[in-house]
Amino acid sequence: MINVPEIFGTLVFDSKVMQERLPKEVYQALKDTVRNSAPLDSSLATTIANAMKDWAIELGATHYTHWFQPMTGITAEKHDSFMTPLKNGTAIMEFSGKELIKGEPDASSFPSGGLRATFEARGYTAWDPSSYAFVKDSTLYIPTVFCSFNGEALDKKTPLLRSLDTVSKEAVRILKLFGKDVHRVIPQVGAEQEYFLVDRKLYDRRKDLIFTGRTLLGAKPPKGQEMDDHYFGSIKTRVANYMRDLDVELWKLGVSAKTKHNEAAPAQHELAPIFNSANMAADHNQLVMETMKRVAEKHDLVCLLHEKPFAGVNGSGKHNNWSLAPETGENLLKPGASPQENAQFLLFLCAVIKAVDEHQDLLRICVSGAGNDHRLGGDEAPPAIVSIFLGEELTDILEAIERGESYQGTHKKQLEIGVDLLPKFSLDSTDRNRTSPFAFTGNKFEFRMPGSSLSIAGVNMVINTIVADALRQFADRLEGADDFQKELNKLIRETITKHKRIIFNGNNYSQEWVKEAQKRGLSNLLRTPDCVPLYTSEKNVALFEGHHVLSRVELEARCEILLENYVKTLRIEARTLLEMVKRDVLPATITAADRLAVAIEHKKQLGADLDYSMELALLRNFTKLNKNLYAEVSNLQRAMEKAKEQDGIITTSRFYADQVVPTMGRIRKLADELETITPSELWPFPTYSELLFTV
Ligand code: ADP
Ligand code: MG
Repeated sequence: MINVPEIFGTLVFDSKVMQERLPKEVYQALKDTVRNSAPLDSSLATTIANAMKDWAIELGATHYTHWFQPMTGITAEKHDSFMTPLKNGTAIMEFSGKELIKGEPDASSFPSGGLRATFEARGYTAWDPSSYAFVKDSTLYIPTVFCSFNGEALDKKTPLLRSLDTVSKEAVRILKLFGKDVHRVIPQVGAEQEYFLVDRKLYDRRKDLIFTGRTLLGAKPPKGQEMDDHYFGSIKTRVANYMRDLDVELWKLGVSAKTKHNEAAPAQHELAPIFNSANMAADHNQLVMETMKRVAEKHDLVCLLHEKPFAGVNGSGKHNNWSLAPETGENLLKPGASPQENAQFLLFLCAVIKAVDEHQDLLRICVSGAGNDHRLGGDEAPPAIVSIFLGEELTDILEAIERGESYQGTHKKQLEIGVDLLPKFSLDSTDRNRTSPFAFTGNKFEFRMPGSSLSIAGVNMVINTIVADALRQFADRLEGADDFQKELNKLIRETITKHKRIIFNGNNYSQEWVKEAQKRGLSNLLRTPDCVPLYTSEKNVALFEGHHVLSRVELEARCEILLENYVKTLRIEARTLLEMVKRDVLPATITAADRLAVAIEHKKQLGADLDYSMELALLRNFTKLNKNLYAEVSNLQRAMEKAKEQDGIITTSRFYADQVVPTMGRIRKLADELETITPSELWPFPTYSELLFTV
């Protein structure tokens, strides 16, 4: 039996451990540092480093690592041992304050988007004391930021931390206007993680899964997800055992894994932790992804985190639940019990509405990538059009406010808003709309566009910054107002009028919405190369520089990295597909065709006037499909050659989207058709039926 409270967080250097192991004044100083997001007094570092080391060694650690999140979207680590040899041939275990605070990994092998060309090649990692260190695989993991020598962010964490500062600062200003003296406001994030599990032995026989994380070929199995029998279905023993191990590993690391269930597609599952401060949530989500993969190995399984591992069934997303909470613990997105609190709630709600409407492009950019492009708009995930779901009632209320009318809610609980013009409204968060990309779910916003493999650091960096910007504009205006209540009324009304086009409560998967959204002037950026270049628009540079989250050069670097990543991903996919078709599919289908030719020949030789029209028809079909397939293979090879001649990363990425992706689609269609007529024993890869229904 597992004693959960006993194991929870045992591998984490959390505040309880710190309190026990650090001198009182050092603990307090560290806490203040985190609270004020100020630099740590280096004189304390030695004491903290020593305490950390002793604690880690007790848990079996021999090494430490600065754990960082380069622009690859995953994490990186380089392990150094605590061991220091002495002259007399013995050794001691040492860890200095300097080693805790700063590391200097060779930055040259991480994507920098040109930042290294202009600055020094060296990068450094710096301890982020706002996220806890932990022990894993005999190593002390120290969460760090990763910057260039000149301080430019080379990672996902640095801008996230900067965005936490700006959104806190602006939210504190707003709260002050409501008479609240709050020191810090912290975004709270809960990231639901979807994933697939496939059998290891089958996985090992799929080059596409090995090299690209998704299947590039595969005919539809006789059964998909149409029976709706997998979602929330009973969990099979092998999967249940996996999930149990996963929970235990995560609990030890202090990740509050809470909910687990089967998802819509066969072999698809979900894990949700309890929400946490955004920075910890981002680190924890990385741990969730790593642990999912690691634990799978033990069960002879492979965990697929790709956004679209299988065509024809749902892909995997990562729902990012976001809210704002002052240190005191209340939730600023929760309709309050008093009139004043409701006015405050409406103001924060309006800030999000304004932010999302004004920055649709950024919300699309932060979820871009070759993998997620397959998913968005695919009848399973929100489209590439960003909109907000508020639910009927809240929308009615906002409309009533806009008209200056009083709202007569039909529901049970009436709430006073406290400003003359603002009507009463009742609390109702029950109507859920699963198709909305950005849904208000009662006390938080659920952003459903992120793909399953994405680091949520970037997503929350964007949400924090755009909301901070709206709050800043609100605060500027309200602080200067003669009559606060009056100005507040006006501000809320004006915001609704200006930004209500972003609110949509209907079916986001429908074609009508695409047309309607176009009429409303909402953007619909379908593919990564369509949206990413907008990252460096003047509007976006002004936004990010204005909040000290990203500078122009950092934005340019990010833009380049995203597009380069897109191109590289597609290049690997195209090469893998070519290899699979040329070396495996075509040889198999040629053999199948040859068998038919032999069969026909045998019948003829018998001289018994046997009918061979069926074999001939099949052979003709093989011949036609093989010929077309071969032609498309040549097209893809040509396209890949031409891609090399494209000038610049934007043009190259567009070329991939326009030429390479469609050609790969045509190849797949032909190969999948061939799969349905090729004898099972000749088909070179495990089929969708096997992959999706074995575990
Ligand atoms: P559903 O699948 O219905 O969206 P889940 O329970 O799977 O719901 O996930 C909801 C996620 O939202 C959980 O991670 C939860 O901790 C998180 N969450 C709940 N309240 C808040 C909040 N105030 N702020 C941020 N996240 C929250
Ligand atoms: Mg959800």
